[in-house]
This record gives sequence, structure tokens and C-alpha cells, in this order.
Amino acid sequence: MANYRNLEDLLKTVGTYIKKPESIEKITKAYNVAASLHEGQLRKSGEPYIIHPLNVAGILAELHVGPDTICAGLLHDVVEDTACSKEELAAEFGDDIAEMVDGVTKVGQIKFASLEQKQATNHQHMLLAMARDIRVIIVKLADRLHNIRTLGVMSDEQKQRIGRETLEIYAPLAHKLGIFTIKAELEDTALKYVDPAYYNKITDKIRNDSSARMQNVDHTINEISNVLLDNNIEDFKIKGRIKNIYSIYKKMVNQNKEFEDIYDILAIRIIVDTVGECYQCLGLIHANYTPVPKRFKDYIAVPKPNMYQSLHTTVISKDGFTFEVQIRTQEMDRIAELGVAAHWAYKENANYNKDREQFEIASKLKWYGDLLKFSEEDKNDDAKEYVDQVKDDILGTTVYVYTPTGEIIDMPLGSTPLDFAYRIHTNVGNTTVGAIVNNKIVPLDYELHNGDIVSIKTNKNSFGPSENWLKIAKTNNAKHKIKSFLNKQNRDVLLAHGKQLIDEEFRFNKTTSADLNDDFVKNNFSKNNVNSLDDLYVEVGKGNLSPKTVYAKYAGTDTKNPEDLIAKTIERNQRILTTNSSTGVVVEGLTNPQLKLGSCCNPIPGDEIIGYVTKGNGIVVHHSSCKNATTFQKERIIPLKWATNPGRKYPASIKIEATSSMTLLVDIMNTVSTCNMSILAINANSNADLQTIVKLKVMTTNLLELEKLIINLKRVKNVFNIERDNI
Ligand code: MN
Repeated sequence: MANYRNLEDLLKTVGTYIKKPESIEKITKAYNVAASLHEGQLRKSGEPYIIHPLNVAGILAELHVGPDTICAGLLHDVVEDTACSKEELAAEFGDDIAEMVDGVTKVGQIKFASLEQKQATNHQHMLLAMARDIRVIIVKLADRLHNIRTLGVMSDEQKQRIGRETLEIYAPLAHKLGIFTIKAELEDTALKYVDPAYYNKITDKIRNDSSARMQNVDHTINEISNVLLDNNIEDFKIKGRIKNIYSIYKKMVNQNKEFEDIYDILAIRIIVDTVGECYQCLGLIHANYTPVPKRFKDYIAVPKPNMYQSLHTTVISKDGFTFEVQIRTQEMDRIAELGVAAHWAYKENANYNKDREQFEIASKLKWYGDLLKFSEEDKNDDAKEYVDQVKDDILGTTVYVYTPTGEIIDMPLGSTPLDFAYRIHTNVGNTTVGAIVNNKIVPLDYELHNGDIVSIKTNKNSFGPSENWLKIAKTNNAKHKIKSFLNKQNRDVLLAHGKQLIDEEFRFNKTTSADLNDDFVKNNFSKNNVNSLDDLYVEVGKGNLSPKTVYAKYAGTDTKNPEDLIAKTIERNQRILTTNSSTGVVVEGLTNPQLKLGSCCNPIPGDEIIGYVTKGNGIVVHHSSCKNATTFQKERIIPLKWATNPGRKYPASIKIEATSSMTLLVDIMNTVSTCNMSILAINANSNADLQTIVKLKVMTTNLLELEKLIINLKRVKNVFNIERDNI
């Protein structure tokens, strides 16, 4: 454990693997900036403050991290503890270093309220989720390591708190990253403060016992060396080591074992050149010593999640001592000591790429990959825009909420349960029907707070996002996904609607539209910018093209040239636009007709309508199949049209038949409100057969919207029939 007292000490370690003058210059500059910013500040021990970041950088250099990470180590406390801002740092040292320092600062602000086991795991996740860049965690671990090395000057209470936090959160993180050297030192140093009596008990035992065992091990090492040499394995290293104190502590406390009962306090490590030699060694060891049953583990064939690889076996020496033997290659040994840090160890001349490095680490470390998975979803879908948006979300200010299983999710400030749902998975978002926060039902636009436990209610039959969700969602991630759902769905609905209108028109003319195809559409409608049959359906569905025009083209009865047609369309649209009737209904040739919507059938845009000229009441608009229409006098019926965009809402009644159930009304009301429609009236009657008839009156913009509602109501549990009422 090196102690760094000045820049020269640091540069000595750095210089073992970083040679480029510009890198050394950058590190020197970072040191000078940090030293002048911390000027006059003292540590509790009385030392100048700069000693702390200097040693953090030193620990990082021992892990062979890149020059930017060393700079981040030197500068890690300047945003928190000096007047320097993140922006100033970015201007001086670039975004990469500024982001890392910002990450370390944010991570340092997390308050660990409880250190119970389950919570501790969450806190580890929270740290990781927050850091995002794995180098931030490495800097934080180096920071913590130096702090705990110098914990002696703190109060007893601080020693306890920092020690426990280290054991519960930071050491396990170092373990997950496979950085054994840091993990072991964090654990042993923390234990010294958390349980000094037990710590001393174990160190005493090791001191008294290990001389005997160590002697024995030295003897065994010689024996093994000879066995290997006799079998033509010449290039190997072999050494004995004592298990770290905290691992012994855990075995004694958790497994209730006596010190003497722990097999692997002593380990002999054999390092060879090739994997083949590893297995050869294992065979030789087992041939010469008695293995302890069930103690053999092959982490070469099946590496640990933190990338650790080795063969482990426990054998009994000729003198009756048990000891563990670890066999691995040099590369495996490096990874065992340095973990992630070994994997990414700075290679001066390789083209360094931060994103590729993250990707490589993620692909090696399964759990880290899982953590970043959410941003991988939809990767091919407008990838760049999407990644930028997600980045935006991450760099914004953050709230932390829990899933029902205790996982911590970080969300931008102001996020709603919808954002949360889309963060969990696109499918969760798209099928959201409600949200429960801290055991209470909340509206979807509820603003999430730190510590909220959020559970999303989904229904796979739900109708999916509505336009309104775009206003509720705060994150670009959720908005992006809602938009792509809506775009797709709107087109599907319009397409189906247009096809239906065309089919009806052709049936009316006693033929079928079966001969319509892309070529026909291209030949006849490319001037309208419609080039495929599907596009034609969509345009008709939108009302931009009339099915009559399509039929006229098809039947060849259309004698006008396209220019005339366009002129006529423009003229018609202008007439529609000049309509100022509040009904949204257009009477050809009349600019301001006196119109009234029939209350018998409540027609809505999209319905086929007729006008009935009354005496004194103007024209009453009816659904073309209104039950009163049979009584109308033919000569007083006039054709009517809907304006293209009436821009108001209309009442519509529907009748729902269902098997009676406790939740029927609630389900219906939830469906309506999630469709962003309002209920004017609802009433339910049940009969003796346990059937319920619900009459529902809603406000709607048009038939499409109402049809969507009906489709979704049909999916409500126990509903078996729905129809428009009073038509
Ligand atoms: Mn620090």
C-alpha cells in the first residue's frame, strides 16, 4: 500500500504504464488545478486536503486506469468542496472528465438510510444506476478505500457508520467488479472499525496458528514444485497466501465455524501458461494429495459473473493439514486481482473509445449488461435520436423510485408512472391501465417522488396509448415510444376505415374492389402523391379522397383530367372551411345554414348523415339509419357532409351487455378515462340472469375515436356485446 505524498510519487506509478507526454501533462495540470482549488483546506488528520485526491489517483493508477480516470480521481472533490463548477471543469478538461467528476459527486450525495441486507443490495444498484459510467464506480471505490485507510481520526460513531457502509455497499460492489485487491482491503479495514474485538481475535489466531501452517505450506509448495517439474511443467509460479480476514470472519459468524474448521484459510496458488496446464496441474495435485470431497470447483469452464476464472480444490497434506489450491493462467490471475480494471487496463497505443469500452465491459459482466439493458431496447429504431434522448433523461436531475421487488430505478425529475412503465419495458408502457404508488391508486400524471414504491397495472387487452399520454409522459423515452405506437395504430385504423368505405362504394355500384392494386393506384393517383393501395386506403380513411372518386377512376366514368379534379377538391375544401355552423356539418351550396343535431340518434363525425328540412326548426341532422328516418318525407331529405375537422365534441350513446361482476363499472369507467374521453352519463341494470346492461353516454370527437373506445370496451372482462344506442 503505497502512500502518495506529492505529484512525483503519483507520476512514478503512472509512468510505469503511461508514457505519452500529453497524458502526463494533463495529469500534472489536473493535480495543479485540484491543489490550488483545495488550497487552505485541511483533512481531519490535519494534512492538506490535496493528499486525499492524490492518493485516490494513486490507487487508480495502481489499477492501470486511463489518464482521464486518473484526472477524475484528482479532481473528484472539487465540484462538491470548492467553488469550481462542472461547466468550468468541462471547459478546462473536457466533457469526459467533467462527467466522471459529476458522477462521483452525485453518487456521494446518496444517503444510505438503512443498511439492512435487502436495502443494501438496492443501494448498490442505485449507485450503479446513478453512475452509469463504470469508471465512476471505480473512482468512488478508490475514494472510499483512501477514506477508510485514514478513518482512524474520526469519531467512533463515524467509524461505525462508514465501516458498515463499506462492508454492506462498497466492498460488495468491488466484488461484483471483480477487483479483489480493493475488495479485500476495504473489507479488512472496515471490519477493524465495525467489530474490533473479533478482528483482533482473528488476527491473533492467524499469527499464532499460521506460523505452523505457513511452515507446512512452504514445505508443501516445495513438494508441489517438484511434482510439476518432474512432469515437464517448467514455467510456473507458486505462492501461498492467507485468506482475507473478513472472509474468515464471515465463515466463523455466518456458518458458525471455529477458526480451526475453516479449510481454506491458507491457499496455494499455482499460475501456469495455458489452460491445458491448469487441468494437468489439477490432475497431478489430486494424484499426490487426497482431495476433500465436494470442494472442487471449475471456474475456468464456468467463470463467476465477475469474470473470475480459476480451478479450486481443497486437499490434505501429508502432515494432515488441509489447504486450498487455486490453479490459473497469468491472464486469469490478473483478472482475479484487478477485475474490470484488468479488462480495460489502459493500453496507450490502442485507439481508446469510451463507448466501446463500456460495451465490452457490459458484455463481460452479465449483471452490468442487464443494468444498461433498458437503453438497448429499440436500438434499431431511430437509434441516434433515441440514444440522445435517453442520455438527456439520464443527465437531467433524478428521482429514485422502487419497483415492487425493491429494485431501484432512476427517473428524471417530474417523471410520472407512465414514464416508469416505459422505463421498465415498452410492453409494460403500452399495456398500462393504472398505477399504484405506496399502495395507493394514483392518476397516471402523478409526479414521482424519491423513495416511492411504484407498481404498474397492465392489461394485455388494453387499447394502448392515447394522444393524451404524450402530455402525461415527461421522458423522451416514453414519448418516443407512445408516438411510434400512435403513428402505427392511427394508420392501421385509417387504413381499415378507408378500405371499408371503398368496399361499400364498389358494392353500391354492384361490383367489387378486388381488382384495385398498386399499379392502378400509381397510374391514377400519383399526382395526388398516393402511390400504393395502402396509401389510397389511408387517404380515403382520412377523408382526403372520396371513395366516389376512386370508383369513378376505376370505372372510367371519370372524364375530368387530374388538374380539374384537384381544382375541384380545393374549391370543395374552401367551401368546407367557410362553414361556420357550430354543428360541424356542411350543406353543399349553403354558407351558413340553420342546423341542429338530432337528439334521437346523436350523429357524430364519421357517421353517414342526412338532413331533414323541418318547418321552422331549420335542418335537423340525423344518422342515415336513425330509427325515425322511416317516417321522413322523401322530398324534404337533403344530403349532408361533415366538415373535415369539426373541432368539437359530440355526445354518443352506447349500450354494453355483460355478465354481472363486481368490477364491471369500475373497469368500464377506467377504460373510458384512459381513452381520454369523458362520461356524460352511466347507468347499469342487472337482470335475474346475472346480466348487466350498462348505458353509457360519452363525449367524442368522431366515429373513429368512438370505435376505438368500443373495441377497448369489448376487451373489458365479462363484456359480451356493445352497440351504439338509440340509432
Ligand atoms: Mn473524496
